[in-house]
Amino acid sequence: MRDNQRQKVYNWEWTLKDPKLKTKLTLQQCQELVDKVWYRYKPNAKRSPVVQSGRGRGVAYNDTRITLGVPARNPHYVLHEVAHCLTCYGDLETHGPEFVRVLCDLLDWYSGTNYAPSARKAKVKVAGPDKVAKPIHLRQSKIDEAFKAMMALTIQERSAVTKMVREKTKEL
Ligand SMILES: [Zn+2]
Repeated sequence: MRDNQRQKVYNWEWTLKDPKLKTKLTLQQCQELVDKVWYRYKPNAKRSPVVQSGRGRGVAYNDTRITLGVPARNPHYVLHEVAHCLTCYGDLETHGPEFVRVLCDLLDWYSGTNYAPSARKAKVKVAGPDKVAKPIHLRQSKIDEAFKAMMALTIQERSAVTKMVREKTKEL
């Protein structure tokens, strides 16, 4: 697997000193954080990656398992590994632009800081927001809009819409 900007990513991440990302977590809290992220991106998933005790830094095994040594049990490491789990499809580079985009989205979600500009400054390639999966909550405004529109209809009109949606999704 290609991994051309791995060292650049590590060097950039090393410069992030946000205390919110460095809080010590128990293994159980790491699992809870993984689950919280996982089901935002994959609300229909039957399972999430299992967090296990490991040695040294974090390691992600596809989207099934994450191992974390004691020094890696903090939000920053957890989000790094779960970003791997979310981008382990196709032939994406391990620490490629798509991975960095997801990681930046997760760091922003957790800490409230957008680190994408700092990554770019460190010459790390960051994919555009449309190149990767989005968590479900980013689409909430669309859902709210559709709900509002539906609520403005009469009962008969609403059931006509529901029928159309059902037929359309059957075609897909
Ligand atoms: Zn990594």
